[in-house]
Amino acid sequence: MSTSTQLDRASLQAADATDPLASFRDRFSLPEGVIYLDGNSLGPLPIGAAERAAEVINNQWAHGLIRSWNTAGWFDLPTRLGDTLSKLIGGNDGETVVTDTTSLNLFKALASAVRIQQQDAPTRRVILTERDNFPTDIYIAEGISDFLNSVNAETGTHYEIRLIDEDLSLERALDDSVAVVSLSHVNYRTGAMWDMEAVTAAAHKSGALIVWDLAHAAGAVPVDLNGANADYAVGCTYKYLNGGPGSPAFIWVNSRHQGRFWQPLTGWWSHASPFEMEESYTAANDVRRFLCGTQPITSMAMIECGLDVALDADIETVRAKSLSLADLFIALVRQRCGGFGLELVTPENHAERGSHVSFRHPEGYAIIQALTDRGVIGDYREPEVLRFGLTPLYLSFTDIWDAVEILRDVLEARDWDVPAYRTRHAVT
Ligand SMILES: *Cc1c(COP(=O)(O)O)cnc(C)c1O
Repeated sequence: MSTSTQLDRASLQAADATDPLASFRDRFSLPEGVIYLDGNSLGPLPIGAAERAAEVINNQWAHGLIRSWNTAGWFDLPTRLGDTLSKLIGGNDGETVVTDTTSLNLFKALASAVRIQQQDAPTRRVILTERDNFPTDIYIAEGISDFLNSVNAETGTHYEIRLIDEDLSLERALDDSVAVVSLSHVNYRTGAMWDMEAVTAAAHKSGALIVWDLAHAAGAVPVDLNGANADYAVGCTYKYLNGGPGSPAFIWVNSRHQGRFWQPLTGWWSHASPFEMEESYTAANDVRRFLCGTQPITSMAMIECGLDVALDADIETVRAKSLSLADLFIALVRQRCGGFGLELVTPENHAERGSHVSFRHPEGYAIIQALTDRGVIGDYREPEVLRFGLTPLYLSFTDIWDAVEILRDVLEARDWDVPAYRTRHAVT
């Protein structure tokens, strides 16, 4: 499908008719009348997930009670789901666990990387990240650095955060003081994507370790952590992996670091023998050492449903459709919504973008509210950014056409221009 010519809905219906992923739409429960362009923030409900939760609650919990930790496989859920998820990100068995939140897992990964550098290259005391990174990624780096500095106050050893931005490129920022580089593979706001292999190689060449945040990448773009020789990765399951609101996150650690993986959240679930109730800590000698405490089993059990769908879809086919959907969206916004002041902030080059497309507009927040009321759900991110997730498993080409037509109506009629749409909700 060419996006350079004038597009019409009929040609998009033809594209839908030959879409190899079309049948995946039936594996999700989506409300009538909604075009969901926010699967990058909260994925929709996979068919079967509600039944899975009901099974955990009504059978495993109600009848099995405490026995279910052994009989229903609850205890092994983090590692079992981790091995499944590993296949989507180029990890091996025994390298990934599903647990905690992305923020917490980032803390663990950074702490482990810093600790390894304290032993191997103690003069490296900079955590390098990006001004444009998701806030939690910067905040967690600040928290680790502040903690290390308060502990080391008397010795004067000083950790600091360095931020890549328009004035400081990655190349220039990487020097012999950098201990660890922490980047999001796909930027949450703009959709810009780093070249994981090249950036990992550059970090290693300069002597740094690297942590990748895959929140907007896992399930959306092909990821090959071992192929890129990365050190650590973390990410969400509730975005493109459709695990449910607040479903536990994941952490991947390259097996070469596993023996040295140490982090301060030394909870009993990461102990070598948690039920020996020993009085002092010994880390498990496998991936369980990335865990901390008791896991939220009901929420975690549902993740498997989303992972099953993701594993049934060939990621290269998903990627190809995602790029086509985004090319179409960008072309249609240009053709049909020109003159309304929407400014594309997502790179157009395929190699440099993930699976969402963002535009800037001074009334972005109100426009998103008006669109949501018309059934086109995207979201808003400061400053002034309208963000649209393009998820190939349940969106069609005609959905994109219809969404852009509604966007054009909203802009043309200034539907957004009412006070109610300017009132900020707690969650944007
Ligand atoms: C969504 C997102 C998170 C979310 O972290 P939580 O701990 O689940 O709240 C973290 N990092 C990035 C890059 C994200 O996009």
